[in-house]
Amino acid sequence: MKKDIRQLSLKEIEAFVVENGEKAFRAKQIYEWIWNKNAHEFEEMSSLSKEFRTVLNQHFEIKNAVVQEFQTSQDGTLKNAVLLHDKNVVESVLIPAENRTTACVSSQVGCSLNCEFCATAKLERMRNLSAAEIVDQVVLIDKESQEHYGCPLSNIVFMGMGEPLLNYNEVTEAIKRITAPHPNGLGMSPRRITVSTSGIPKMIKKLADENLRVGLALSLHSAIEEKRNEIMPFSEKFPLTEILESLIYWYEQTKSIITLEYIIWKEINDKQEDIDALIAFCKKVPTKVNLIEYNSIGDDKFLQAPPSVTSQYIQQLEQNRIVVNVRRSRGKDIDAACGQLANKNQISQKLQ
Ligand code: SAH
Repeated sequence: MKKDIRQLSLKEIEAFVVENGEKAFRAKQIYEWIWNKNAHEFEEMSSLSKEFRTVLNQHFEIKNAVVQEFQTSQDGTLKNAVLLHDKNVVESVLIPAENRTTACVSSQVGCSLNCEFCATAKLERMRNLSAAEIVDQVVLIDKESQEHYGCPLSNIVFMGMGEPLLNYNEVTEAIKRITAPHPNGLGMSPRRITVSTSGIPKMIKKLADENLRVGLALSLHSAIEEKRNEIMPFSEKFPLTEILESLIYWYEQTKSIITLEYIIWKEINDKQEDIDALIAFCKKVPTKVNLIEYNSIGDDKFLQAPPSVTSQYIQQLEQNRIVVNVRRSRGKDIDAACGQLANKNQISQKLQ
């Protein structure tokens, strides 16, 4: 069986190149083709001789991810269904804004958590993505950003499918590759990367120790323990006091303010007690709040609260000097918005 060339480090490729009578610098070219240019075939590597491309082809294969399906939203959001080498599919999204383009990438095939309001949670967790598969999503989206919007990708959020902190090693390895300088990496700034977690205290602390200089977002949705446990049942194992303690540790280690993601639902967290609990939580550690618009997944239990409630939240948070942003939903018409990534086309095929 041929070996996947992406399992090799630059040094190992260099050794192969020299053994086969080529100059060492060819290794760098190959490395760029497989990592930064998403080449699928050795035939594409036009900077190498035809003979050497054949030699490579005899020894190796390139197991990278490819775009299986591409959709464009009316608001300019793009969504890729990305086909992996074992035929699993994950989704990633490109969100253009005035002065930046943001990639929303997946970290797992499916998800093992059970947030009741999220479409991905309805899928089984099939497996973790490898660092290479995460980097591939970024490279593919970067290409699309240049093609469609004339600018390279500027930001990355780990808010696609899966829980990034439950695929810790591959996610941190991917971040290292994305932020390493060329040609070993994509040369992006870690400050423009945000890891979003449902809240796994031990892993938040571990990430703080990693010193990657990325941002952290916590999907809070309720600062009242019982309510949070009801809508995010897995969190019974992770009391809010422990989460808070891990966030304080994060801030002490990184000095980076934490983003709290929060959706306001009718009858669930639209009361004064909910606002009070959120404010009390925010006062314990430096945070800002992103109020996310809810994207329906067709379940009557969860309905977006009316704008008057959002206004109350904003007013009271601001009175308490807590920074709050309202995040408009993007890409809803193609099921590309937060919580909607569910390989819909694949699922409907499976259900038929
Ligand atoms: N597991 C990680 C990352 C994936 S979810 C996490 O929980 O943070 C990315 C964000 O989308 C989270 O803030 C999540 O709470 C939010 N989300 C999930 N379902 C949603 C929905 N239906 N509408 C809006 N946001 C949703």
